[in-house]
Formats: sequence, structure tokens, C-alpha cells
Amino acid sequence: MDWLKKKGLEYRDGVLYFANMNTIEIAENFGTPIYIISEEIVRKRYKELKNILDSEYGNNSIHFAMKANSNLSILKILESEGANFDCTSTGEIYACLKVGIPPSKIIYTGNMFTNNDFEFAVKNDILVNLDSISQLKRLAKIYDDLGKEKNTISFRINPEFGAGHHSHTITAGKTIKFGILDNQVLEAYSKAKGVGFKKFGAHIHIGSGIINAGDFEKAIDKYLIIIMKLADTLDIAFEFLDFGGGLGIPYRPEEDPLDLEFYKTIVLKKFKELVKKGNFEGTKFIIEPGRYLSAEASIILTQVNTIKDNGFKLFAGIDAGFNTLIRPTMYGAYHHIITCNKKDKDETLTYDVVGPICESGDIIGKERELSKLEEGDFLAILDTGAYGFTMSSSYNSRPRSAEILIAQGQIFKIRKAETFEDLTANQEIPKHLK
Ligand SMILES: *Cc1c(COP(=O)(O)O)cnc(C)c1O
Repeated sequence: MDWLKKKGLEYRDGVLYFANMNTIEIAENFGTPIYIISEEIVRKRYKELKNILDSEYGNNSIHFAMKANSNLSILKILESEGANFDCTSTGEIYACLKVGIPPSKIIYTGNMFTNNDFEFAVKNDILVNLDSISQLKRLAKIYDDLGKEKNTISFRINPEFGAGHHSHTITAGKTIKFGILDNQVLEAYSKAKGVGFKKFGAHIHIGSGIINAGDFEKAIDKYLIIIMKLADTLDIAFEFLDFGGGLGIPYRPEEDPLDLEFYKTIVLKKFKELVKKGNFEGTKFIIEPGRYLSAEASIILTQVNTIKDNGFKLFAGIDAGFNTLIRPTMYGAYHHIITCNKKDKDETLTYDVVGPICESGDIIGKERELSKLEEGDFLAILDTGAYGFTMSSSYNSRPRSAEILIAQGQIFKIRKAETFEDLTANQEIPKHLK
């Protein structure tokens, strides 16, 4: 099936292969649950998107929103492709700097910034994308205190029209905490000019998991009107305009992928019209996808440990729970689940595929039709490369799983599984309890 092939998956003699590797062998050799990442797919998705942008407007860059997948190897892979990075926290910036990504390639789109956040950013020459007018004074003071020159500043604008796969991932609208609204934008930029910033950028990010590019249109239209008004009124030139991430992927076999040509028409062509109209010749076009670049590049391998028929319902109990992958529990998100050995038997049954966490919401796949399972079988949970490991936890004192990378037919262990010692390592028992 084409849908599987695009994600690097295929059955050979009834065995599931991912990135040309036998999934059952991996599961047996490395243990489960385990995250497996295909280097090739990360590179493919990046190139595909970059080519689309390059075909329309050369002065562009893609910033990987690394909260989707902050594994250091993923950062290195994307850096080697030429990617830039969008960080939501100083911890993420730390990881980028640690692997040698230059500060000039990083935008810090935090929210609810503390002075410590600002200090870390300014000390490391990281561009800050502000989220509230009130933060401007504090940031300017930190530049002054550290004796650093105020160069570029950017604000996150909230264009009010949001979109996304779940209410928690819609990030624009009057009642949403992010960004500044239309009526405060002029004030923000004129104050930024006033405190001495010389160059300007602007940013929107309206939501996550948008599979229909048309959903971006209203927000983009409004954004560009705001930008025109700003440029005209304050006589400022924009170094860059950032259009955010949000590009969705097909989690379900019947879903069509995001139409990149249509996305280009909605986002990049409108930007080009703006460039023609005003003083935007040198303005860089930026997007910051997370999910699009990494989601399809990873699967989780998990083992069925218990088949339970309670007389009403059939459960397939697996060793991956919402500690391993929280998206189904948190967002009701769909992750397709397939067997690692394709059974010749035609018999299929409907299972609730459930994890080992002591909460009844620990359901990875509801009512899934799968070929008849036995205890000991291996399953693959698909599209787990974004908001998978980064949102995992050690809830129920279950150590976080390992991650492996497949590159050119070789397997690399890129993260050890946590151990029991790791779970207790940071704790101290006060004397009176010893
Ligand atoms: C999360 C986030 C992104 C990436 O979202 P995706 O849906 O994964 O593309 C981009 N920009 C900002 C500011 C974000 O917070």
C-alpha cells in the first residue's frame, strides 16, 4: 500500500520492514517498547518541503520546531540538510548549542518568558520572539545590563483565526494565551523601536496538525494586512516574516497528505504579492514545521503481552502505554497500528489496544481491526516521530524507552532506555526519614 510505503514501511514475506530493516528482529534484539527513527525519511521530508519553497522564493528558511522531536541526532540530521531551529525553551536552546548549531540559526519563540530566559538568550546571542508587550522593557533592560547591542526583535502576532487537530493545539484566537492581537501590534513595534531595536521580524503560529492548507488562509490574509499597516505606519523594514508551523500529516490510511502545492499557493504566493506591493525586497520567508518533518519518520515497536476477552470486549494489552505515547490519551489522537508479522489467516478481530498504565484512559488504539493476535506478537504504532518521545514520561515508575536510528541499513542506538536507578537518581530522603 502506497500509504505505508511513503512512511518507509512494507511487508516482505509477511514480515514488516521499516527503513529496510526487519522489525521483528529489532524488537527481539533491542527490546520493547522502543522508538525507531528513519534518517532517510527525515531527510526526505525536509528536502521535499525545501524544494517547494525554493521553487517559488529563494530567500526562505525552514526552522524545525524541535519540541516535536528534540533528539540530538535528529537535530544533527536536520542541521546537515541546512535547517534552522525554533525553540520554545532555554532547555531546547541548550540542546541546539550543545550539538554545535550556531545561535544565528535559532529563533526563541517562548511564551511567558522569565528574566532568566531572556538572560540566557541574550548571553547566547539568540533572537527572541516576544509574546507580550509587557516583556519588551524587561528584555531591553537585560540587553543594556549585559552590554549587548539591540539588534533584531520579533513579536508573535495572534491573527485570531486559529486551526488545528484538537482545541488544545489551536494557538490563535482572542481567548488564546499566545501572541499579541491586532489592536496592540502598532504599540508593540513602536515601543520596540523606541527602546532601540533596529531590525524587525514578525511571527504567527496558528495551530498544529492542519491537513487542509485552506485552513491557513484567513490567518495569513489578516497577518499580511497587519504587516502592511505596520510597515507603512512605522516606516520599518522587515528582516523576516515567519508563518509558523502546523503542517499536518496523514495519520489515517484514508487521509490525503497535505497538498504542498496548495500550501504554497495559500502561504508563499500571498507573501510574494506583499513583497511586490511594498518595501519587502530583502525580507526572508520563514516557516517552522515540527510534525511535518519528523512524525512519519518514526514508529514504536511494542509487544502484545495479554489478550483479554472479558465477555464484552476484546483487549490487546501491550507494553507501550500513555507513558510511552500520550497523544491518544491527551488529544484523542489517532495512531495507526499494524502487526509486525502479517498473518495469512483471514480472521480479523476488533481490539482495544491498551497499555499497562493504571488508568482506564490508557488506550493507544480504540476498536482496531487487526488480524487475530496472540500473546507475544509484535505491533508497530505509526507516525510517532513528533510529540512522541518528547511528551513521554515515567508515570507509574516505568522508565522511558530507548530510541534507535536506522541509517543506510545500519542501526544506531541514539538513546539508552532509562533504568530504575534513573527514576530515583535525583531524589534525596531527609535525615529524619532515613
Ligand atoms: C509547536 C510549534 C510549532 C510546530 O508545530 P507543528 O504543528 O509541529 O508544525 C511551530 N511554531 C511554534 C511557535 C510552535 O509552538
